[in-house]
Amino acid sequence: MNKIFLKPGKDKAVLRHHPWIFSGAINSVEGIPENGSSVEVFGSDNTFLGIGAYSQYSQIRVRMWTFEKEEINLDFFQKRISLAIKRRQSVQKMYQDSAWRLIHAESDQLPGLIVDQYNDILVVQILSSGIEYYKREITEALILATGIQNIYERSDLDVRKLEGLEEHSGVLSGIVPAEIEITEGGFRFIVDLVNSQKTGFYLDQRINRRISANYCKNKEVLNVFSFSGGFSIYAAGFGAKRIVSVDSSQEAVDLAKRNHGHNKFSEENNEWIVADAFQALRKMRDQDRKFDVVILDPPKFAPTVAHVEKAARAYKDINLLGFKLLNPGGILITFSCSGGLSDALFQKIVADAALDADAYAIILEKLTQGPDHPVSLSFPEGAYLKGLICLKN
Ligand code: SAH
Repeated sequence: MNKIFLKPGKDKAVLRHHPWIFSGAINSVEGIPENGSSVEVFGSDNTFLGIGAYSQYSQIRVRMWTFEKEEINLDFFQKRISLAIKRRQSVQKMYQDSAWRLIHAESDQLPGLIVDQYNDILVVQILSSGIEYYKREITEALILATGIQNIYERSDLDVRKLEGLEEHSGVLSGIVPAEIEITEGGFRFIVDLVNSQKTGFYLDQRINRRISANYCKNKEVLNVFSFSGGFSIYAAGFGAKRIVSVDSSQEAVDLAKRNHGHNKFSEENNEWIVADAFQALRKMRDQDRKFDVVILDPPKFAPTVAHVEKAARAYKDINLLGFKLLNPGGILITFSCSGGLSDALFQKIVADAALDADAYAIILEKLTQGPDHPVSLSFPEGAYLKGLICLKN
C-alpha cells in the first residue's frame, strides 16, 4: 500500500477521527497511488493514523476509511453496511415507511457513498474516487448485507468532476423499473428512480413532512418548491382546507398531481402552479392573497460557503414574501438544505425577513434532517438541513 505523510500539526483532525485530509495537510506521498486506491496515513512523526482513499484530483486528497490497521475489502464494506443497517433498525420501527436512507456517506463511515432504499430497490450515489474504486466490492457487499438484489446507480452529479469522475447512471444488479410506488406516513408516492431529482425522493424531509402536517388541519396552505407533492399530500391527508403548490418543474408538478390522485384526494380546492417561485410569490403578494400556512423548501442555494452571500439574498427574499402572504396567526415553515449556510445565519436571515415584512414572529419548532440522515460527531459537516416553524402575530 502507498503511504502519505502529514505536515507537523496536521494530524489533529485525523486523531479526532475527522474523515477528510486536504491536499495542503500532506507533506509527502510515497509511491504513485492510483486514483481511489487505499493509502496508509502517517503523522509527521511517522505514527500510523489510519487508512484512507486517495483522491488524485480533489482538494480533499484523502478520505479516511478506518483509523485502525485492517484490510479494505469486501468483508470491510459488508461490516460497515451492516452497521449502518443496524443503526437504523430502532428508528425504522417507529415508522412504517417503505423508503429511507440506508447509508449517509461520511456519517456512516463510508465517505462519498449514499444509498437510499425504496422497497426492495437500492439506489446508489457514488461521490468519491474511493467508492468508485471499490464499486464492485461495495455492490456485492450491499447485496450480502441487505439481501436486496436490485441496485440502481444514480451518479449523475457534476460534483463528481471534482473527483475526476464522469457522470454515470444505470442498473448495477437485478431488475429496476423506472417507476415504483412507496408508502410514507401512510401515503402513497410514485417515485421516478431513473429521471427525477436526487435519487427520486427527498427522503431527508420525511419526518418534517409529518411534523408540518400537524399545522395544516382546516388551513389554507401554500407549499412552495413542492416537487412531487410531499408536503401537499400530507397537508391534504391531515385535512387542509385548500392547498396551493408551486414548483418550476413541469415534470415535478405532473408527478405531484398523479400522487394526489393516487391517494384518492379530491381535486377540489387544489391549485398546482408551474412557475418560478420568486415570481409566483411576488404575484400572489400583488394580488393580496393570504394563507394560514406557508411552506418554503427551496433547492440548495448555497452548495458551498463561497455561495453564501448570494444565497442569503435569495433566502431572505422568499422568507420575506412568505411572511407577507401569511394571515395573522399564520405559520411559516421554512427550510434551508445548504450545507454552506450555518443554522445561526439561516435563523438571522429569517429574522431579517420578518423584520422587513413588518411581522413579529416566534420560533415554535426547529427542524433538521431525519435520523436516517445522521450526523457523525466527528463530522459536523454532515448536518445540512435546517428548518424553522415560525408563528406570526
Ligand atoms: N419539498 C419537496 C422537495 C423540494 S426540492 C419534497 O418534500 O419532496 C426543491 C424543488 O424546488 C424541486 O422540485 C425543484 O424543481 C424546485 N425548484 C428549483 N428552483 C425553483 C424555482 N426557482 N422556483 C420554483 N421551484 C424551483
